[in-house]
Amino acid sequence: HAPGHFRALLEMSRFHGDKVFLIYEDEHITFEEHYRRAATLANRLVDEYGVAKGDRVAVAMRNYPEWVISFSAVLAAGGVAVPLNAWWTEPELAYGVGDSGAKVLIADGERAARLAATGVPLIVARGEAPEGARAFEDVLGEVAAEVTLPEVDLSPEDPATIFYTSGTTGQPKGALGSHRNLGQSPMTVAYGLMRAVAMAGRDPGEVAGVRRVTLLTVPLFHVTGCFSGLTTTMFTGGGLALMYKWDPEQALRFIERERITTMIGVPTNAWQLMSHPDFGKYDLSSLTTLGYGGAPAPPKLLERITQNLPNRAPSNGYGMTETTALAIGNGGADYHARPDSIGLPSAVVDVRVVDPMGTELPPGEVGELCVRGPNVILGYWNKPEATAQTFIDGWLHTGDLAKIDEDGFVYIVDRAKDMVIRGGENVYCAEVEAALFEHPAVDDAAVIGVPHDELGEEVGAVVRLVPGASVTPAELQEFLAGRIAKFKIPVHVWFRDGELPRNPGGKILKTHLRREILGS
Ligand code: ATP
Ligand code: MG
Repeated sequence: HAPGHFRALLEMSRFHGDKVFLIYEDEHITFEEHYRRAATLANRLVDEYGVAKGDRVAVAMRNYPEWVISFSAVLAAGGVAVPLNAWWTEPELAYGVGDSGAKVLIADGERAARLAATGVPLIVARGEAPEGARAFEDVLGEVAAEVTLPEVDLSPEDPATIFYTSGTTGQPKGALGSHRNLGQSPMTVAYGLMRAVAMAGRDPGEVAGVRRVTLLTVPLFHVTGCFSGLTTTMFTGGGLALMYKWDPEQALRFIERERITTMIGVPTNAWQLMSHPDFGKYDLSSLTTLGYGGAPAPPKLLERITQNLPNRAPSNGYGMTETTALAIGNGGADYHARPDSIGLPSAVVDVRVVDPMGTELPPGEVGELCVRGPNVILGYWNKPEATAQTFIDGWLHTGDLAKIDEDGFVYIVDRAKDMVIRGGENVYCAEVEAALFEHPAVDDAAVIGVPHDELGEEVGAVVRLVPGASVTPAELQEFLAGRIAKFKIPVHVWFRDGELPRNPGGKILKTHLRREILGS
């Protein structure tokens, strides 16, 4: 029996025994406890629910320790774990259950209420079990000191996970990941983080090993949380601190109390942490590493980290659901030298930029970014057409426009679908947003296309100002005039009081914004 990579990881993690693996509020779960509970649940799934190799089991929860135990159990049983987006509404959850064909659902109380109508056998942790559902602890029953994993024959190419994409550009797609995809994730992420730490002049042991406690500020149901956070921590033997929900003040408190060393999340998390009025009141001396990605990180973020959290090792990682998290990363001296770059390809990937015909472009030219490697998923679940369009001759077409410089550093220019085409001229929203961010009064900004009869589209910007700051649209336009070409300067500027609508992945929901502002 060749162990599925996840089973190998789980068995290996047991070596850390009594060391704390999961921290949630004031609960601490050791590696041994996690192993026993996961192995027990794996046996129950096989014996009582008939889960066999390849069967899908969905997990729909907040970042509770039971999420991790369930994920581990499903994979250890040879099943395919389907993390569902916990923020989804009832119909969206029903889509995830129906699309994945899940045989069993494991949910928290809040999600269970929204899943009951699906009629799929339901196991409920933390909260009330609806009629017909069983409580997580009851299913688990007695957890013995010695538990062996169920017998199952897995090979590296066997499916392990179906993660849903964020749905930024359309309906979320199920990304079918293999045990090999999962198996390479800790190496890729730990390697990237350790390199960033070493290049910042610090001891890479601060990232790997027992001294490391990672605060996860994003959901486990996206790949950043699961792979950059969870599987990497399981591999390095550190602790993983989970939050009920993202909250900058709770995060500050958590960092001080648990002596957190690494924070993993999206750029907005780091930004909001430093913007909190009580930021200066907490002891954050343990925090040495900040890894973020999944959404554009403005160079201004690095500047602020350098000021507010000096001598740390920030790093920006680019990845997609389809690349099992990290694919390209920037850290240490590289990052300071090129704060607008997403960095160099990870050790396991090849990258290139192609024109619409698929021909590779020379350095400096903008085209679609393509990625190839053992982290690229098998394809989309149930979507042969989307799979055929996206995975071509072994290359994943990312849908992101990028350029690569002479030294191999990659720059994201925009999402192909986010570009505004103004009278035949391409305007990259990300470039205009980055220019807006340079203005000291701008706290957040989103650029959108505004329909125009003659030009097709005009450039519009929705701006949130730093509290207490004031600036007029004309002043902003004048500021931009020295930075970007005239045709890129937003003709419409809307100011917004509240936060810009973002999904839990930190991405601005432009379709929502367009609807709100333009009614379309
Ligand atoms: P969907 O594919 O359903 O429209 P999505 O692409 O937002 O949603 P994800 O897989 O969560 O779903 O996100 C991947 C995308 O996030 C990338 O294609 C890229 O546009 C963006 N992204 C990720 N990391 C970075 C980064 N470091 N800098 C800039 N953009 C990033
Ligand atoms: Mg995508």
